[in-house]
Amino acid sequence: MDFTFTLEEEAFRTRLKEWLAVNMKELPRWWAHPDVPGPEIDSEEFHRFSIWWHRKLHQAGFAGITWPIAYGGRGGTLMEEVIFHQEMALHRAPGLTNVHGIGWCGPAILRFGTEVQKKRFIPKILSCEEMWCTFYSEPEAGSDMANVQTRALEEGDHFVVNGQKVWSSHAHLADWAVLLARTDPTAPKHRGLSYLLVDMKTPGITVRPLRNMTGTAEFNETFFDNVRIPRHQIIGEKNMGWYVAAGALEFERSSLGQAIARENTFKDLIRVIQQQGKSNDPLIRYRMAQLFIEVNVAKYLGLRNLTKQLRDGRPGPEGSIGSLFNVELNKRIQEFVMEVQGPYSRLMRGSPHAIEQGRWQYSFLRSRGASIETGTTEIKRNIIAQRVLGLPR
Ligand SMILES: Cc1cc2nc3c(=O)[nH]c(=O)nc-3n(C[C@H](O)[C@H](O)[C@H](O)COP(=O)(O)OP(=O)(O)OC[C@H]3O[C@@H](n4cnc5c(N)ncnc54)[C@H](O)[C@@H]3O)c2cc1C
Repeated sequence: MDFTFTLEEEAFRTRLKEWLAVNMKELPRWWAHPDVPGPEIDSEEFHRFSIWWHRKLHQAGFAGITWPIAYGGRGGTLMEEVIFHQEMALHRAPGLTNVHGIGWCGPAILRFGTEVQKKRFIPKILSCEEMWCTFYSEPEAGSDMANVQTRALEEGDHFVVNGQKVWSSHAHLADWAVLLARTDPTAPKHRGLSYLLVDMKTPGITVRPLRNMTGTAEFNETFFDNVRIPRHQIIGEKNMGWYVAAGALEFERSSLGQAIARENTFKDLIRVIQQQGKSNDPLIRYRMAQLFIEVNVAKYLGLRNLTKQLRDGRPGPEGSIGSLFNVELNKRIQEFVMEVQGPYSRLMRGSPHAIEQGRWQYSFLRSRGASIETGTTEIKRNIIAQRVLGLPR
């Protein structure tokens, strides 16, 4: 695959780099300086900061790079999107914050929604005037998403929703949500689900925060008690929700900058080792060499994945290889940082002796969640085994 960029693409890169050079000066000091204390990731201050930055990127035309101009996107190419993720990661800039909206809720509406739905929702997803969250997982439906039990039964021109969702990231902040619910309890598991849009202000929705092991409350459990959703808020046809959810995820692009993010973490690791005066320890040097190889493997897996997307328009099941390798590599790096820190690894944010304000303790614990959200490592291994290698179930 030829990864040479066209003149237009290089011009796009230059414009983005110039924009970042000017605008990153406005970022608070804690963003770029690990020793400066910053707000908790689940705090009101961090939320306000994330929205402020998202809107700046949007106003500069960097949200929805491949999305149609008619709905507020940039109408650009996949390569421009790649450049965007590369430069953002290289500059260590904060990303867009409406992650679910841009990742899959928007793409679901763009691919399967009506013209009215696209005009109503897409521009406000891009501008982050409306934050989105996702209601797929339930206590009895995670990896086995087709087992969703929450019901949405038709009553006149509404669906009436009853049930419980769990692990709903950002539901406490969201204005709108996508909901996978059972609209035909008699149909086979995959066939009786529908994809509905939920206004979070609708009566009957209760959101309760759940604190994860990092100590922050980023996700929630959500209860639906006779929640009435107008029929026109369905995406695609009734009982076709499974296919809408799967189809929308194919366009999730946030992984495009993942390999550079790993390289950044590796560089940060070198900084910690130097600060700890352990650069000459032969065992540490040996482990670093191994991690360096793996960081480069992640880079080339990313390029292979990109080649596939450029050729076929979608990553296909092979996309799970890079994704699996990346989350597992991140866990290995984070574990190694804990070893390097020795007894200091026990000190969390808030301790005056915690290394770099305890940011590594957070990222170490958070790396576990990253290997569960959007599909566990075991499920990714199953996909690779069955759909790439052709092994039996
Ligand atoms: C940080 C975080 C954020 C999340 N955000 C959201 C969100 O916003 N919205 C949302 O809907 N969900 C969200 N989730 C939920 C996430 O999608 C599920 O946790 C995930 O799909 C796994 O489902 P589960 O927790 O029910 O585990 P289970 O499916 O019960 O799995 C339990 C264990 O069994 C293994 N397992 C299950 N089935 C198989 C199999 N067939 N073969 C081999 N092993 C198997 C799994 O890998 C896992 O180790 C989030 C999760 C996390 C950690």
